[in-house]
Amino acid sequence: MESSINKTCKVCSKTKPIIEFTKSHINKKGQQYKPKCKDCQSQYQKQWIDNNKEQVDTYAKQYRENNRQKTRDVAIQYYYNNKAERLKYMSKWKSQNKEKWEAYTKEYNQENKQYKQEQIKTKATEVQGVYALYDNGECLYVGESSWLNHRLYLHKSYTRKPSRNKSQRELYEILNKKHPNFVCGIIEETPNHKEREQHYINQLKPLYNG
Ligand SMILES: [Zn+2]
Repeated sequence: MESSINKTCKVCSKTKPIIEFTKSHINKKGQQYKPKCKDCQSQYQKQWIDNNKEQVDTYAKQYRENNRQKTRDVAIQYYYNNKAERLKYMSKWKSQNKEKWEAYTKEYNQENKQYKQEQIKTKATEVQGVYALYDNGECLYVGESSWLNHRLYLHKSYTRKPSRNKSQRELYEILNKKHPNFVCGIIEETPNHKEREQHYINQLKPLYNG
């Protein structure tokens, strides 16, 4: 016997309360339910998995593999989207590992100095975009340029001798006195650098963009 509160299962032939059945669709007669009770349905699913073990395993493996790929893609995306975050981390590392840092950069500069100067002078590897200055995890300054490498080079040189720069002498004097160990780097390469600079100023709240 079927009523609106009980239903008989097509598989086990037991009459059970309607909540023991899964809802299917609604028609003129109202809410309809699957012909199998939930117990029989789950029994059927277990049986199906047992009978299709190979297929299920392959699917699970594929799923894991896809997920791994996705996780990797997200990580790579994060890395490229967070150059400012890396710079911040680097500046902290530098302030805690000054000797190591100096040893590394000394070695690096010895190997690359001439090449680097040549690159900057000839603007051979120039990029346009936004850059930032950090010291011990704190964002000091955000700027934009059509000649980023050249601009970063100038920052270092002006900080050593603030008197060389008239328009931003104050900034370089502060950098020289308070932040001689700042790090600087490109945070986004984009032709849209003026607009993006403002975005980063709002986001990173640098100390000296005034
Ligand atoms: Zn049943």
